[in-house]
Amino acid sequence: MASTTSEFTSVAGPRPDLLITTILERLRSLLPEERPIPLHEPRFEANAWERVRDCLDSGWVSSVGAYVDRFEAALSEYTGVPHAVATVNGTAALHTCLLLAGVEAGDEVLLPALTFVGTANPVAAMGAVPHFIDCEHETLGVDPAALAAHLAQTAELRDGVCHNRISGRPIRALVVVHVLGHIADMPRLKALAERYRLVLIEDAAEALGSHLDGRHAGAWGDLSALSFNGNKIITTGGGGAILTRNEALARHARHLTTTAKQAHPWAFEHDEIGFNYRMPNLNAALGVAQMEQLPALIAAKQVLAQHYRETFADMSGARLFREAAGRESNHWLNLLLLDAPLQRDELLQAAHAEGLQLRPFWTPLHHLPMYQDCPRAALVVCDDLFSRGICLPSSAQLGGKPGQS
Ligand SMILES: *Cc1c(COP(=O)(O)O)cnc(C)c1O
Repeated sequence: MASTTSEFTSVAGPRPDLLITTILERLRSLLPEERPIPLHEPRFEANAWERVRDCLDSGWVSSVGAYVDRFEAALSEYTGVPHAVATVNGTAALHTCLLLAGVEAGDEVLLPALTFVGTANPVAAMGAVPHFIDCEHETLGVDPAALAAHLAQTAELRDGVCHNRISGRPIRALVVVHVLGHIADMPRLKALAERYRLVLIEDAAEALGSHLDGRHAGAWGDLSALSFNGNKIITTGGGGAILTRNEALARHARHLTTTAKQAHPWAFEHDEIGFNYRMPNLNAALGVAQMEQLPALIAAKQVLAQHYRETFADMSGARLFREAAGRESNHWLNLLLLDAPLQRDELLQAAHAEGLQLRPFWTPLHHLPMYQDCPRAALVVCDDLFSRGICLPSSAQLGGKPGQS
């Protein structure tokens, strides 16, 4: 699979100008010839048209309908989490999780700085304060050891409620993110959340199909959020879901996401502040079709990840991120880590010039103007990963056509 580039790899450490050339050459050897090659594209098959047409024919396209129930049942069955509540998007799912966790204005919520901005925005929109914590090289997720040290320094339990000793604010929840589909160290994070009485929320937006010790992402925390945005492993156009093992929380999630309207033949009675967050039936029809494809999509992505591993196996100056033992990633996006940060942007520039849509990580949240004054731990690993990480084109199509993989 890999091209022969012995003239580059035989030198002790690549010359800087050769590193980019070598990486691009290897990418060309692996990827098809058409350009541009997007970072991630959805894949639809005949069943998508069938389900969506059937939904249109039924006349039930909006926020109630059989496809919503079927999609939720499929998610629950696949993940092993008893309750799934489909929402309009992942951000709405996270917002609902935070409401269910009892987060209020003036609270703090622990979350990693290396994540999509959508993890923090619902926290801020509630008047709560994101409190940024560091991630680890092994999983890309929240570092339990660093978090334990940070909490030992800054947090204390007062009457059973965790407080930030410095700001005086309650710390209500811990949101962990499964970055690029790689599950964080959930056993240790769960133990820490229990010790500090924090509600544990998983932002599993990128991790449908990922497992740790045989347990699916989203099955570890009290509540978790999935996303089915167009770039995720499956898509419903836009969409999300809340997963929980707790039936009362699931019932409350359904209520909050349907404007907290009480069941009644005609009256509009709402008993708390709720939102129009339920997934429309039309989107759920696409979701049902995509769930039918999910095993094949993941198989194709495993093939692609293996191709990337082979292609970059003997590379000096960069290496492919690999998940640790016991972890089974959905391989949503493949990650190349440069040994040194110096040439990241040069590589991005050169790749884009030839239609290869490589991407850096999200700019860490503590560098964004609205979040730069938030409380935070040392964010050394987060800044390091951001400076060296490059996401590679990872559509399932690149791992082989359906039936071929
Ligand atoms: C995509 C994503 C979200 C937000 O999901 P949307 O469906 O786009 O609202 C949140 N967190 C992470 C980590 C994501 O990747």
